[in-house]
Amino acid sequence: MNKARLYLDIAVPVPIRRSFQYWAPYFDARPGIRVRVPFGNRELIGIILSSGEQPATEVEKIKPVLEVIDLEPIFSASLIEICNWAANYYLHPIGEVYFTAMPSKLRNGLKVSKQVTVLTVKETDPSQATQLLHRAPEQNKIWQLLKNRSELSSADLKALNLTNSRIQPLVNKGLLARHERTPLPQSAAPLKQAGLDLNHYQQEAISRVKDQGTYLLHGITGSGKTEVYLQLIAKTLRNGQQALILVPEISLTPQTLERFEQRFTVPVITLHSGLTEQQRAANWIACYNGSAAIIIGTRSSVFAPLLRPGLIIVDEEHDTSYKQQDGFRYSARDIAVIRGRRERVPVVLGSATPSLESLHNVNLGKYQLSSLPLRATGAAKEKYQLIDTRLSNSSSLLEKPLIKAIGKTLNAGNQVLIMINRRGYAPVLYCNECQWIARCEDCDARLTVHRRQAVIRCHHCGFQADQPKICGHCQQQSLVPVGEGTQRIEESLNNLFPDFPVLRVDSDSTHSRYALQDLLDQINQGKPAILVGTQLLAKGHHFSHVTMVIVLELDSGLMSSDFRSLEKISQLIIQAGGRSGRESRPGRVFLPTAFPQHRELKQLIGKGYLEFSKTLLAQRQQHKLPPFSFHALIRADSKNRNTALEYLDQVRKTAASITQAEILGPVLPAMEKRLGYYRAQLLVVSDNRAELHRAMLQIIDITETIKTRSVRWSLDVDPYDLY
Ligand code: ADP
Ligand code: ZN
Ligand code: ZN
Repeated sequence: MNKARLYLDIAVPVPIRRSFQYWAPYFDARPGIRVRVPFGNRELIGIILSSGEQPATEVEKIKPVLEVIDLEPIFSASLIEICNWAANYYLHPIGEVYFTAMPSKLRNGLKVSKQVTVLTVKETDPSQATQLLHRAPEQNKIWQLLKNRSELSSADLKALNLTNSRIQPLVNKGLLARHERTPLPQSAAPLKQAGLDLNHYQQEAISRVKDQGTYLLHGITGSGKTEVYLQLIAKTLRNGQQALILVPEISLTPQTLERFEQRFTVPVITLHSGLTEQQRAANWIACYNGSAAIIIGTRSSVFAPLLRPGLIIVDEEHDTSYKQQDGFRYSARDIAVIRGRRERVPVVLGSATPSLESLHNVNLGKYQLSSLPLRATGAAKEKYQLIDTRLSNSSSLLEKPLIKAIGKTLNAGNQVLIMINRRGYAPVLYCNECQWIARCEDCDARLTVHRRQAVIRCHHCGFQADQPKICGHCQQQSLVPVGEGTQRIEESLNNLFPDFPVLRVDSDSTHSRYALQDLLDQINQGKPAILVGTQLLAKGHHFSHVTMVIVLELDSGLMSSDFRSLEKISQLIIQAGGRSGRESRPGRVFLPTAFPQHRELKQLIGKGYLEFSKTLLAQRQQHKLPPFSFHALIRADSKNRNTALEYLDQVRKTAASITQAEILGPVLPAMEKRLGYYRAQLLVVSDNRAELHRAMLQIIDITETIKTRSVRWSLDVDPYDLY
């Protein structure tokens, strides 16, 4: 009787690093099908990973599947491989990996279909149509619009601004009908607008891209990388395939989306957190059933289901937002590369400032490098200039000579961009009498003054309080805001240049998408203005009227103990600088620093990013740092000081005796306390990937033998942030 049973390994969304076995009566149980199962006293939705006739344990202990949700897998075989690979590589619970790959409506059991609903236009005698519609002018208008077409997809209807409620009367009258069918491959003529004539470098870059392989496209800002993407996508569409484009942030760069929509006749769909759950599910289904040909998405869309994958592009591949910083800590860029290999499609990684990891992979022969060294419009490259701040007696970050240069630029009718990576008014509220500093009670952090709302705020946990009038320690009225954030710079500039608008772009000023769009519209009008912002400003925007850029506070990046900080600050400098002088006007970039002799900084601005990156790579090699070794981090935290530290110390002692990998720590991160928890971490290092992996598996085993309820711990493979 048991013969009729099928035993299924199911990935269930729980924080446990294994799958669970259930049984079901015989059915076509393919991997990637969703099922509902009992789990403890709950019911959960899980994904079938495999099936067989052998129970893994005593059959009495195996519970039955309650419901089979899908007839067909919702994950393709290659996507299943990729999810399994990711769960193994990042040592993350497999059910959570699969759930990251689905929109929440699907996690909750929404049924999906490979069919699409289309609207067909019935052949109708004109006189009959006139008769049916002569009292309904609105319906008649719609009929006139549609009568010569045969079939319309929901995207066509959307493009014509026709909602279901406007269509329904015509369906009722039998002029139109809805029905379901498999989506057709997209149009063989995908272009709405012809591509630009490519320059020699662009042609070269495109002809390199073969059916498979990973390509690193290094192109300075404005060199025409996007044009290369567009023409590669056109090729993909002509082959009847889908293109997936990953971008760091969609809502920040509406212009990119517009460019895609202007170029192609096929719909461009997006996948990102700004969509409603409904839209997200609908767009996911459009990828799944193949009706979407171009998919632009942020990090998690690297898992988008593709029916006919043809190309994967990762724009701004160096961007840290591709690495998830909590929960399932994956790198979407790295998974994109793996996915390209499994799906046998080319992967293009583009950036003006490629990550050292990717450049290293070029040196190893794993990726192929193409370069676009010139601006495509013929505009001159921006010029960089270091400003020695040691001689200044100014108390402000904005030095006198800079203020003069800003005035000149504005008076010549141009825009100025000032970048400072610190939002708020002042980073410190300080007592002149007793040296007291306002701090967050839950984090090892100072509270930032936000003057307009008159509050002090923790940028780590979100704590907020009214800005105190008297010192919390000596009760004197002696508190002063110290240091400058975007708001204070904005205030000084307003005072210095009352005749010109100062536009601030940071996460406080762009809470809503519309606020950002307003700011961008104002900037793009091109009137002289000053733009002040955080690194949000350096991301992907095209500001054709900016001719002067200032990057403030880069010294903290030059002097940080984070081994990646020099890479990060140089990427920021070049990305910010690239916003200037995009058309006929050359750009100038000013870098105030107390280290004007800094060797690497001088190399960066003198020889360019690629030369500079060679120096950094040599240093990493010398110090055996990534990408010349591999890191994994074990983070632990607890409510009590020392508990996490002692826990990790115990883990290290046990692990050190059995593993070849080097285990460093436990150490306290720079911010020991965060959100009320004390933190500690162990760093595991090896120059051998397999060895590192083995060590981490051993460490996971060890953590399971050490009993503690007061410590939470997590793993981070290839951590980007060690602090
Ligand atoms: P990137 O993505 O590298 O910053 P873009 O693709 O946005 O560069 O191109 C920058 C500008 O150059 C755009 O205005 C684009 O229209 C223009 N451009 C790109 N390729 C060409 C070309 N082959 N000929 C003329 N202009 C081009
Ligand atoms: Zn805090
Ligand atoms: Zn005081």
